[in-house]
Amino acid sequence: MSNQPQEAYEALLEFLYRVPVALLQVNGEGVIDMLNPMAAQLLMPLAPDGRLENLFTVLAPLAPWLPGKVHEFAPASGVVCESMRIDISHAAQQRHGPQLLSASIMKLDPQRFMVVLADATRDAEREQQTLMRELNDAARIDSLTRMPNRSAVRETLQRMIDQSPADNREFAVLFINCDRFKQVNDSYGNAVGDHILRMIAERLRLSLRRADLVGSSQNALQMAARFSGDEFVVILDGMLHGESASNVARRILSALESPYRIDSHEIVCSFSIGIVVPDASRADADVLLQDASIAMAEAKRAGGARHALFNSAMRERAQKRGGMEAELRQALLNRTLHVEYQPIVGLRQDLGGMPAVGAEALVRWRHPVKGGIPPMEFIGIAEECGLIGALGEFVLETACADFMEWTQRLGADAPTLLAVNLSRAQLADAGLVQRVQQILASTGMPSASLQLEVTESLAAQDDVVQQRLRDLKALGIKLALDDFGTGYSSLSCLHMLPVDTVKIDRSFVCQADISPHHRVLIEATVRVAHSLDMSTVAEGVETPAQAAVIRELQCDKGQGYLYSRPLGKLQFLAWIEERLRLAA
Ligand code: C2E
Ligand code: MG
Ligand code: MG
Repeated sequence: MSNQPQEAYEALLEFLYRVPVALLQVNGEGVIDMLNPMAAQLLMPLAPDGRLENLFTVLAPLAPWLPGKVHEFAPASGVVCESMRIDISHAAQQRHGPQLLSASIMKLDPQRFMVVLADATRDAEREQQTLMRELNDAARIDSLTRMPNRSAVRETLQRMIDQSPADNREFAVLFINCDRFKQVNDSYGNAVGDHILRMIAERLRLSLRRADLVGSSQNALQMAARFSGDEFVVILDGMLHGESASNVARRILSALESPYRIDSHEIVCSFSIGIVVPDASRADADVLLQDASIAMAEAKRAGGARHALFNSAMRERAQKRGGMEAELRQALLNRTLHVEYQPIVGLRQDLGGMPAVGAEALVRWRHPVKGGIPPMEFIGIAEECGLIGALGEFVLETACADFMEWTQRLGADAPTLLAVNLSRAQLADAGLVQRVQQILASTGMPSASLQLEVTESLAAQDDVVQQRLRDLKALGIKLALDDFGTGYSSLSCLHMLPVDTVKIDRSFVCQADISPHHRVLIEATVRVAHSLDMSTVAEGVETPAQAAVIRELQCDKGQGYLYSRPLGKLQFLAWIEERLRLAA
């Protein structure tokens, strides 16, 4: 009889040892005093060095807030228990194991805590399934991802707006868009694109969890939906302020940005997220969604792979852009855009004198009311609204036709090089190479005289862009790296880019004669370029002193106001004729 309590105690220990629940006892600093085999099995993949000594250390990258939580309720009297969720989907290497843990922490005494860990992956999925059942209506479900669709989003949002003044619920809307999804579809085909969309949906579902809902009621709603194409919407009910929504956005971004492995491909996508946290005026569902998408567009414009919180100045900017977009469309139709040419001159002694060796085509828009609008203000808009293809073709076709006219008029004295800028969105277009080829054929432009200019960040971008550039080169066209020095690639990467010419950015050239630092950078660029058989152009040469330096540093060509501002087609012809007359 006297052995009974001892036996019972041992049986309990045996039970705790074998039970399929992960149990740990830790002190206030997270040091693990005891853990059962299930806990070891769950936590081991998360401990990179294989050491399970301190729970806070093991979970630090995933739940940095854990020590704070524990300290928060350590002084409280009596037993306190709190449950929370920890997303481990990106840390644990196993693909089929738990993605989400639930952690319940119970205070035994101020220095001892019992922690129960369980796999909550299924719970999160069930929550989404429950939501889906509620929405169980084909008209509200997207057939590709099995997520709620646009109508479901609008209805749910409207319901929340209508209810919210009464119980003062707060919520946030996240508008998510893949930065270059069209490029993925163009390069890998629509089936792979669809597969990625389904994977995005799955990752979004998993990244939603009730632990995000600070101070919210239990029946708070979270919804991840496919809005259209590559646009997804997440509604977070019970979100108290923009900062917590931003935290969720950051987590979603990191969940979505790990590579998508499909067949033998490993595809990397970046995403932009716009967040709107409605103020007291609430507006209606469509306005909220529009605001969130405006914020998303701002995030994308800032380079993508980030989130932006909506503010009213963004709406004003969007309206201005919208107006400009309509006018630009009209300008393209009415042909009120035109092209100017800035001479590019040879600097090397062996070329003799200072003949024009080429021209860079620069697009111009003379607005009937606003006057001349600089390309930097409308190229971006043209890219966003899908007009860049038409705009780029217009510039290329006009420039090639004008170049051929000069060739006819000037014969052997005609310029031998025509530079035309290519924008980011043009390079993403799978039809680009074929259209360039058609324009060369229809205008009679010799491909060897055409130089297409791309910016540094673009050329370094990815395999698809690199292949596109090689396809262009295969037509016999020259490529130039524009604005060199302003992007993120360095001289050491130059050899990897398929370019023939490096254009040294104006920000270096304008300091060439006054800053030894800039002079050295130009000198190094020229040397490295020459060692790779690339030629160099100094951009934005404005003074004879700058010209003297770049000539001394062996730069091949110069371009800038010192030689000439951009000129109309006939003015350019006159400029060359004047030069020839002076040289004679
Ligand atoms: P970019 O290709 O680097 O063109 C050179 C820019 O520098 C032009 O500005 C030119 O007018 C300006 N510039 C030239 N010499 C000097 C100088 O001595 N001093 C100063 N301060 N500026 C000088 P622009 O025409 O305003 O064009 C700006 C940018 O817009 C271009 O930079 C190019 O990236 C883009 N762009 C222009 N036309 C087109 C086009 O047809 N298609 C595309 N995709 N982009 C274009
Ligand atoms: Mg250029
Ligand atoms: Mg430039």
